[in-house]
Amino acid sequence: MALRFYNTLTQQVELFTPLSGNLVRMYTCGPTVYNYVHIGNLRTFTFQDVLRRWLRARGYTLDHVMNITDVEDKIIRNAAAEHKTLAEYTEVYTQGFFEDAAALRLERPERVVKATEHIDDMAAAIQKLTEHGCTYVSEGSVYYRISSFPSYGKLSHNDFSGIRAGARVDVDEYDKADARDFVLWKAHKEGEPAWNTALGPGRPGWHIECSAMAMKYLGETLDIHTGGVDLTFPHHENEIAQAEPITGKPFVRYWLHAEHLSVDGQKMSKSLGNFYTLRDLTAMGYQPEAVRYLLESVPYRKKLNFTMDGLKAAATSIDRLRNYKLRLETGKFPPGANETLAERTARATAAFDEALDDDLNTAEALAAVFEYLRDTNTAMDAGEFLAGNAAGAREFLARFDSIFDVLNPSAKSGGLSDAEVDALIAERNAAKKARNFERADQVRAELGARGIILEDTKEGSRWKRQ
Ligand code: AMP
Ligand code: ZN
Repeated sequence: MALRFYNTLTQQVELFTPLSGNLVRMYTCGPTVYNYVHIGNLRTFTFQDVLRRWLRARGYTLDHVMNITDVEDKIIRNAAAEHKTLAEYTEVYTQGFFEDAAALRLERPERVVKATEHIDDMAAAIQKLTEHGCTYVSEGSVYYRISSFPSYGKLSHNDFSGIRAGARVDVDEYDKADARDFVLWKAHKEGEPAWNTALGPGRPGWHIECSAMAMKYLGETLDIHTGGVDLTFPHHENEIAQAEPITGKPFVRYWLHAEHLSVDGQKMSKSLGNFYTLRDLTAMGYQPEAVRYLLESVPYRKKLNFTMDGLKAAATSIDRLRNYKLRLETGKFPPGANETLAERTARATAAFDEALDDDLNTAEALAAVFEYLRDTNTAMDAGEFLAGNAAGAREFLARFDSIFDVLNPSAKSGGLSDAEVDALIAERNAAKKARNFERADQVRAELGARGIILEDTKEGSRWKRQ
């Protein structure tokens, strides 16, 4: 069976095909940089990483955009409390996010874009919405009139037709019970940052940010848009309402939402204070790859309850995988090839692929891996695993790790030497030349995981440490 995803818009599992050729245009709502991300946020970003990797394994190329929300109510409040400019305040957490993402081996989307660098694009989008009769002004702020968009509610599957016209909401976050005309552009208030645009001095609301940037880089219709379930309403509902009246086209073809990470049955969130950052866990001695494994081990649409025992179990699973890899690399196997075991490898690979094709069922994919480990370990003990079976087993393990990425231990202190970085870059260049883009991407991801930032320029690759 081919690749399929559950689409929040249609509430169905659908076959996935991009709009044009092999290119997948994808948008991800990035972090709001008012604090370090917690591992709940990282669950959603890890899901997106698995999605990226699996799309590539299935032959697609990606144009993936992620935004950094660096202007928003909470950021403004916190920056003011610390007597910092917006940029000073957000820079720390933006870099912090990149460090955490690299430690978790999350590939960088093709483009990571900041809201504050796209204010004019947002103002232009608001002007277009005005031309289409979707806005009104009140006390200098511009609001979106939800009664102007009859299909408002189609993503969150809610009927908002009874909403009182003219009732407004100024805050960026609110829930279904508070659905009202929402703010697109906030008139300048004393003590708040402001930009001078054609709309007058002020700042954008949160929601316009993503639709303006998504359309700027990815065109009128995206293939995939991702985020955590909490963004379905109002954020993504509003994104649709801000895009479709302008283009007259569907904004997004597949909406994919990750379920929450919870602690003691409650959503992990900054406001509840029940969160761990990756830094908290590594300071306690846990490896980032154990966190990555734990977050990957439960399919993204299922709730995942975080416990320290779960994290320890993840580390044990990684040990089993690494021990197996070592046995494969160093074991002395009798000559020949065992046909039955070769078939077993083919079956395991097919089961792994089918699980990920099935809306990224990572739990099933891991089950296929561990059943294979158990069977082949038994065969090794019995002397039935032959030298000719090793290459297939290694390939299967490499396929697993190209998605789950937990086999290589994280660099301890110090990381890579300059010479080691140069050698990896040379390897990447050679892989690119040989059109082995998978390997080239792997090397890039490995460098990223070890804190090396790579920039491709016309003159070649440049790198620096984070
Ligand atoms: P934020 O920085 O709050 O804008 O959130 C960044 C991403 O993390 C969004 O896609 C959220 O939906 C997601 N998110 C927030 N809390 C959780 C959680 N407890 N579990 C999973 N994802 C979450
Ligand atoms: Zn967004």
